[in-house]
Amino acid sequence: MTVTGDDTRVEYRTCPLCEATCGLELHLRGREITLVRGDRDDVFSRGFLCPKGTALKHLEADPDRLRRPQVRRGDRWHEVSWDDAFAEVERGLTPIIEAHGRDAVAAYLGNPSVHHLAGPIYTRVLLQALGTRNVFSASTVDQMPKQVSVGLMFGTMLSVPIPDVDRTDHLLILGANPYASNGSLLTAPDLPGRLEALRARGGKLVVVDPRRSKTAEKADEHLFIRPGTDAHFLFAMVHTLFAERLVDLGDLAGHVEGIDEVERLASGFAPEAVAPLCGIDADAIRRAARELAAAPRAAVYARIGTCTQEFGTLASWLVDVLNVLTGNLDRPGGAMFTKPAAGSATTGGRGGVGRGVKFGRRHSRVRGIPEVYGEIPVVCLAEEIETPGEGQIRALITVAGNPVLSNPEAARLDRALASLDFMVSVDIYRNETTRHADVILPPEAELARAHYDLAFYQLSVRNISRYSPPLVDLEPGELPEWQTLLRLAAIVSGQGAGADIGALDDFVVSGLVDRAVQREGSNVEGRDATELLKELASRQGPERVLDLMLRTGPYGDGFGADPEGLSLEVLEAAPHGIDLGPLEPRIPDVLRTPSGKIELAPEPIVADVDRLRESLSRTVNGQVVLVGRRDLRSNNSWMHNLEILVKGKERCTLHVHPDDADRFGLETGGTARVSSRTGAVDVIVEVTDAIMPGVVSIPHGWGHDVDGMQLSVASGRPGVNSNLLADTTLFDPLSGNAVLNGIPVELAPV
Ligand code: SF4
Repeated sequence: MTVTGDDTRVEYRTCPLCEATCGLELHLRGREITLVRGDRDDVFSRGFLCPKGTALKHLEADPDRLRRPQVRRGDRWHEVSWDDAFAEVERGLTPIIEAHGRDAVAAYLGNPSVHHLAGPIYTRVLLQALGTRNVFSASTVDQMPKQVSVGLMFGTMLSVPIPDVDRTDHLLILGANPYASNGSLLTAPDLPGRLEALRARGGKLVVVDPRRSKTAEKADEHLFIRPGTDAHFLFAMVHTLFAERLVDLGDLAGHVEGIDEVERLASGFAPEAVAPLCGIDADAIRRAARELAAAPRAAVYARIGTCTQEFGTLASWLVDVLNVLTGNLDRPGGAMFTKPAAGSATTGGRGGVGRGVKFGRRHSRVRGIPEVYGEIPVVCLAEEIETPGEGQIRALITVAGNPVLSNPEAARLDRALASLDFMVSVDIYRNETTRHADVILPPEAELARAHYDLAFYQLSVRNISRYSPPLVDLEPGELPEWQTLLRLAAIVSGQGAGADIGALDDFVVSGLVDRAVQREGSNVEGRDATELLKELASRQGPERVLDLMLRTGPYGDGFGADPEGLSLEVLEAAPHGIDLGPLEPRIPDVLRTPSGKIELAPEPIVADVDRLRESLSRTVNGQVVLVGRRDLRSNNSWMHNLEILVKGKERCTLHVHPDDADRFGLETGGTARVSSRTGAVDVIVEVTDAIMPGVVSIPHGWGHDVDGMQLSVASGRPGVNSNLLADTTLFDPLSGNAVLNGIPVELAPV
């Protein structure tokens, strides 16, 4: 920390507002942020900052942000003490659990719940205490197909190969727009700069997308693709590799099972067979495959557009099939596995083999849709609330989620939430979702809590570790979120709102220490758990858990076993982070499949290929389909209450190709009615050839035009909720992920 003449102090902190995890330089006067800059000494981001990072100052100061617990009585909200708020939660939840069982209380975890340290640790404690089958999260509107495909291929749900952008010669991107998103399931500050460096050193960037996004504009080549056909396109590339004898596993030979099966499956997907559906001609597909195979170092990376579609898991799988078949998986410049410092299932115990993953151990009550990683897909949430009978959801706990904006059939879900007997939300805002809550429990200010990106450092393009301590004290009336989550856990487990939170936290940590000393191959295997607990005793809450994870992680000090190793104390002395080096080959150690091999043709995926093959007979008949789009100044619905980010030109518009504008009588600045089976929205039109004919686009996360919120800025720039048009009957059967791209719609002028 540096203190300047006017009492301004300079501190460093990781930005929590997207997956890029940039280092920030914050100028603080008391609790007030006076300036935000990129931290030029940050080991990972080197001074990069996007407009959202600057807005942290405005988020902290936002007068609409909730700072004290709120209780709703009828339509009126009342600020109450924490004791009164938890007593209200206990009065609401306990009788429901007693009368109807634990499944009557559902939990929904939103995306921001993994953007800070306490969330991933203590929501797990809450879910264990709750013991409900009805766990939902934003993962099944976002990324579950990738988690399913990598789980089946490599053994854990976060074994995601990361394109080694800084060393590759050729990068093929599908369904992602890192110039707007800054990367997703790929943690890489200044990803646009890294892509420009790739091109500057003579590499090639190819983008496949139904829109000419900013990333596509900057690429060497852009191929427009019809939404929902990425798996067809990728399979045709695989077909080409086999047909032209371009398959070369390189160092992976001996580590791969199922290659013959993949060749057999690909045989039905010749480029000519998929071209009419994809809208990409066969020669272009063959060329894409040849160039990928010929590049000295290449990687395929795909994201949201390939996940939120009916063949999401197949598309996600084929991305890594291509990385394997071209020998690019696990080699520098290819697609590699991060070796995270803390919390990874790929670094614990003995490597190279594991239990793998299992799905469908139970099914949703109403439609019988299988669970994935313990979650019921969000396409089931509304019906599980609406449908009477044993196991009906009667109460809901949300943590940092706004499913009314982010989930399909939003209007129906909105009505369903209004019908609940009780709802409690942990959230910073009274928004479209939390307005239905009976109690809202706000977390402490961002600067008052410790930060470490447990999730995103598992997906980063370099191995790094970076900790941000709390920079300000809690204000009177603030409660750390980890304590809120533990108190909720105490209530739902029957210990009651007055339980000893310190004792509960001790119990959590001692369970984790016990597991660490019992884990075969751990750097503390066989040690005395009491001794380890003593060494951790100076800390509490998430910092204590983080210290344990770091010290027992792959770079950890092992509680003295390696005095040079990592601990939280070491990170505290490194405010700009610690660079643990470039990604390095990790196969076979990274694998956790039962076979100890890369499973190139896992049985559930093989079984789903028939569905893809059947879709080849579909024809494109003039139907218009809807896709989403991302904006640099927006992250889902999070940041629409900050004037600095929403001001200027209207961004929630309908992008429509000139041919379709003519066909449907639409013009720029006019209004179009976009309707689907589930709803309709009236939205301002922007005619552009940056979108392919037959496809229209509306960004998601908007629609702030409902009553009962406390979002004064967002309410003034509402936009429309594109998820009114998304349909809960459309989902990827393997992952349960909602289809948000490729929704059939009708267009008409208003
Ligand atoms: S790119 Fe993401 S992490 Fe970096 S400053 Fe912007 S919002 Fe923050």
